[in-house]
Amino acid sequence: MVFLHMRFPGGKTKAVTLSYDDGVSSDLRLAELADKYGVKCAFNINSGLVPDEPGGGKLTYAQIKEHLLGRGHEVAVHGELHRAPGAFPTLIGLRDALNCREQLEKNLGVMIRGMAYPNSGITRFTGGSDYAAVRDYLGSIGVVYARSLGADNDSFRLPEDWFRWIPTAHHGNPDAPRWAREFAELRVNERYGDDRWPRLFYLWGHSYEFDRDGNWDLLEELLGVLGGLPDAWYATGIAIWSYVTAFRSLVFSADASFVYNPTLQELWFETDEKLYSVRPGETVTISG
Ligand SMILES: [Zn+2]
Repeated sequence: MVFLHMRFPGGKTKAVTLSYDDGVSSDLRLAELADKYGVKCAFNINSGLVPDEPGGGKLTYAQIKEHLLGRGHEVAVHGELHRAPGAFPTLIGLRDALNCREQLEKNLGVMIRGMAYPNSGITRFTGGSDYAAVRDYLGSIGVVYARSLGADNDSFRLPEDWFRWIPTAHHGNPDAPRWAREFAELRVNERYGDDRWPRLFYLWGHSYEFDRDGNWDLLEELLGVLGGLPDAWYATGIAIWSYVTAFRSLVFSADASFVYNPTLQELWFETDEKLYSVRPGETVTISG
């Protein structure tokens, strides 16, 4: 075994995910379009800003349940009151995230473990906290990933630090359509061994921006390129976290001639250009 690369479910070499903020009513249109192109989205909600009655531009819990969760999308923490962790003392940021998680779970009846930082997030620390404190308290309240911002790029990498998960691009980044095409055209299985690592395209924004800028066609253009790729897995942020975390639990024998899957998910990898899958509880021999 010279090269070992994770593969997504089904042996796919790429994953695509979306992350949209603030729980606004135009999320309904976004969720419909995501469905049309077979793409999954995390909708990042402020639990303290969800109205009791429809109207007023924000979604109610009933709408979130029916139209977002009901279509297989994710709901994630965005702070009870949309506070940037870097702009507040540690305890205030902790409470904003914890209250949000607790209230979303109570009102929606599902486990919530993802997050997108509100406002300036962790891009600057002016309120008496620091990154180590934020990462620690998020972990201690059961948040497992948090989307950060400010470094759009076309590396298509999975995060090394789940609490500083940098997306590929905001949909309004002028490079986004070109990067989407690059991603779609990339043939991971035709690359040289060391370069056959799995790729991710992670798009983010606010759906109200499409109304404001009159450019829903931009979203359709991007989803038209990113959707329906035979080598891509379409998953929410939490599904990607869950899969990659499970993958890292694979147990290899000392000489890597067999591998054991102690998790509850079927896991896929490629080694020396051969694809393997290991079902839960199974031990598989690696040939060659
Ligand atoms: Zn926001």
